[in-house]
Amino acid sequence: MRLTLSCCRSCGVSIQWCVTEKGERIPMDELPHEDGNMVIVIENHESVARQHLPLLDADLPRYRSHFATCPQADEHRTRTTKKNR
Ligand SMILES: [Zn+2]
Repeated sequence: MRLTLSCCRSCGVSIQWCVTEKGERIPMDELPHEDGNMVIVIENHESVARQHLPLLDADLPRYRSHFATCPQADEHRTRTTKKNR
């Protein structure tokens, strides 16, 4: 098992790079959080972040995407997510 630890280029906190089930790279917070809605599982030697499923994942720590928690999130989202309104 290997985790890919890194630092956020915007705010400098430790993050771990995972892939989603769609194969997209996603930065996750290093530490679990009770409000997290994702779990990190190891599949094929990769850290896969997927949605937390209450029945299946009751014992797993929950994490949040760093996209959601980064205080500098605006830098991650320039242009692409301004369509929310
Ligand atoms: Zn950050």
